[in-house]
Amino acid sequence: AARVEDTTKVSPMMEQYLEIKAANPGLLLFYRMGDFYEIFFEDAELASRSLGIVLTKRGKHQGMDIPMCGVPVERSDDYLHRLIALGIRVAVCEQMENPAEARKRGNKSVVRRDVVRVVTPGTLTEENLLDARANNYLLAIARSKGSSGADRIGLAWIDISTAEFIVTECATGELGATLARINPNEVLVTDALYSDPDLSQLLRELPAVTPLTRDVFDGATAERRLCDYFAVATMDGLSAMSRLEATAAAACVTYVERTQVGKRVPLSPPTREAVGTTMAIDPATRANLELTRTLSGERKGSLLDAIDCTVTAAGSRLLAQRLAAPLTDEVAIGRRLDAVTTFVADSGLRDDLRAALKTAPDMSRALARLSVGRGGPRDLACLRDGVLAADQVLARLGAIDNLPADITAAMAGLHRPSRELAATFARALAEDLPLLKRDGGFVREGFEAALDETRNLRDASRLVVAAMQARYADDTGVKGLKIRHNNVLGYFVEVTAQHGDKLMQAPLNATFIHRQTLAGQVRFTTSELGEIEAKIANAGDRALGLELEIFERLSGMVVEASEDLRAAAHAFALLDVATALAKLAVDDNYVRPEVDNSLLFAIEGGRHPVVEQALRRDGQPFIANASDLSPGPGQQSGQIWLITGPNMAGKSTFLRQNALIALLAQIGSFVPASRARIGIVDRLFSRVGAADDLARGRSTFMVEMVETAVILNQATERALVILDEIGRGTATFDGLSIAWAAIEHLHESNRCRALFATHYHELTALSAKLPRLFNATVRVKEWHGDVVFLHEVLPGSADRSYGIQVAKLAGLPPAVIARAKSVLAKLEAQDRGQSAKALMDDLPLFAITARAPAEAAPPSEAELLMDAVKALHPDEMSPREALDALYALKAKL
Ligand code: ADP
Repeated sequence: AARVEDTTKVSPMMEQYLEIKAANPGLLLFYRMGDFYEIFFEDAELASRSLGIVLTKRGKHQGMDIPMCGVPVERSDDYLHRLIALGIRVAVCEQMENPAEARKRGNKSVVRRDVVRVVTPGTLTEENLLDARANNYLLAIARSKGSSGADRIGLAWIDISTAEFIVTECATGELGATLARINPNEVLVTDALYSDPDLSQLLRELPAVTPLTRDVFDGATAERRLCDYFAVATMDGLSAMSRLEATAAAACVTYVERTQVGKRVPLSPPTREAVGTTMAIDPATRANLELTRTLSGERKGSLLDAIDCTVTAAGSRLLAQRLAAPLTDEVAIGRRLDAVTTFVADSGLRDDLRAALKTAPDMSRALARLSVGRGGPRDLACLRDGVLAADQVLARLGAIDNLPADITAAMAGLHRPSRELAATFARALAEDLPLLKRDGGFVREGFEAALDETRNLRDASRLVVAAMQARYADDTGVKGLKIRHNNVLGYFVEVTAQHGDKLMQAPLNATFIHRQTLAGQVRFTTSELGEIEAKIANAGDRALGLELEIFERLSGMVVEASEDLRAAAHAFALLDVATALAKLAVDDNYVRPEVDNSLLFAIEGGRHPVVEQALRRDGQPFIANASDLSPGPGQQSGQIWLITGPNMAGKSTFLRQNALIALLAQIGSFVPASRARIGIVDRLFSRVGAADDLARGRSTFMVEMVETAVILNQATERALVILDEIGRGTATFDGLSIAWAAIEHLHESNRCRALFATHYHELTALSAKLPRLFNATVRVKEWHGDVVFLHEVLPGSADRSYGIQVAKLAGLPPAVIARAKSVLAKLEAQDRGQSAKALMDDLPLFAITARAPAEAAPPSEAELLMDAVKALHPDEMSPREALDALYALKAKL
């Protein structure tokens, strides 16, 4: 008879699953079942789609099939990595007891399970989930509704893989620039902030935003939560923070506690980032200058890639950090430059240190893994190898007198880890360390007597097995008899098929119990073998157990020493960066910049660090060029250079190289120039006309104008502004007018140092009116009707644009080129330049009301009419055009 199934009944396991799932909203649940993490329901559909794994079914829930897929535990890191890259957060639910324990509690009992961690982009520690050369920041944004209407933003960010913890405050308008600088991998906000229309554009562009309930951002409990985390009575001793910063900081630690479920992640006490100590660089400028990524999103081809000669991952991370936040303090910049100078001057020292640094382990990340219980034997070795490398570095530096402050500070850091402890680790750890602690074999022989004894027992038993094989071979007369081992049968006796029968017959069948017949072999076991097997397994288990105990002990010691290890890790990174920048300076022929608080900007023999390297790979020289934006004699503000020249002449390269030289100087690096004098830049702006921005779905021209507006509204005297072909994205006269007005505004109102590239030659006329506007041009030579680029920047202006010659170089069909030439000739006859001259005379300068009117009187009506008639070419007009022209003339009267 058909059984009526109760479709509403939920199996005990499913009940447990649903309960855990409900307790972890918004997370994809990895539910441990034996050797797999199983994924059910919508999670399964999402995972199967995202990971390309097979979707199956398991049982029914409320009458419907339950979709399911699974990933093997062994390879789960790989799957986690891919899910996280897609912005999916995962709760990992483990079995907290083995099935036997569950059965003891009752027949139907389900194995106890719990979520042991939540894996999110901002809270990773696993080596293979992290980019070794980049920081992995988790950042929280707290906002206060200022009573005056001006909102303030509190920011806190941490890297749990290196324990860094930093807080700061900024105005809402600065948030974009600040986020671009920190470049977090995960951002925490309140639900309210998440749905705030003012921030939605900004938040949507971040890689992963996690909205949280208000209690996580509760300012009233923030200090207490921080105190609890750092186990102190008050935060006063740790760091001074504003309430808003504390709120953001508390959100970070609460989130870390939630995701790490009960494991305490060691974090340094929050340090406050002083406002205005770094050069402000907004997201568009960062992208445009390709600082850490190219416009197509790759590291290769970026400035960072070009200057990164570091030999350690931690050094590479520090360099990226410095590049993201150039300094504005003369003294601090000078200190960094002093360190680089030392290593430029002494090549032997530089090479020796770099060789020693190469052996330094990534201590901060090893430390982080050990402290959350996810470390392995190789992480333990960080203490031993770190001290070894530190001593090598110290020995080399010790012989040198008068080292600059940054280097002596690094030496102090390298002295900190306990040498005694390191010696203990050297005695404890084996030469070759396995990746996983459960593989065992990482404790050196002679370190602990009990372990040695158990290991001997295990190995002795193995010898017994070998002896047994010889005896069995004798007893049976089968020479080829072997004792083998596999995971299914354990130890077994194996003979070839032809001898199988012999062992299965009396008298041998009393000893040999048949287990398996394969194509070529027959396998047996014996009771004796069973016993020895148990002994070996026991001894092996005991040895592993002892090793794991030792692991925990050593791991505790490393965590205990974490502050010292971190100081040493930072010292390694600092020396790595200083020696790497010195190597770059020597290899690429850079000079030490002269940086001070003036408004100078004078570069001699400047080059573009990335283009130069690329050209060198092709065996081509880079043409060095000077620039000078310094205030002239008797002037209070810097100059604006207006650069004209045909496309492909090298205008953009020249503009960018000047911005990059300023940036390199302020991270404390030498610069690609023969001499560079730079008054500290507090803000760097760079815009490119009509950059393709289709991804954001905004008209390119609109983007360009929005970005230009930001500059004109914000740039002050200390800023450096790079504008490339602004106004290109619209009709000629619109574009020219906008560029015109922008230059006037920069000159009169912003009064900043600026470089402005354009193909509107008409703009060069402005220099007659603007005393700090200087015309420069990139030289080209015409040769047999072709254009030759000389890439030389000289005073003056381009006489023509050579657009058609460039088009010819690009391979446009000759017929098109010929036709374009004749169209151009006609257009030039109408003399567009004339109208710009009229503009010069007509319009009073932007924002200058007090100035005397232009000396030349505006043209009279009659003159205008005359010009218009002159511009007519009746022979070339259609009757219709002629009629229109007539109407137009009449309208002018
Ligand atoms: P523009 O902005 O005037 O169109 P770019 O700055 O894009 O021109 O330069 C075009 C190409 O010319 C670059 O890709 C580079 O290879 C080469 N170039 C530019 N400046 C130099 C230079 N100073 N020396 C050598 N080659 C250069």
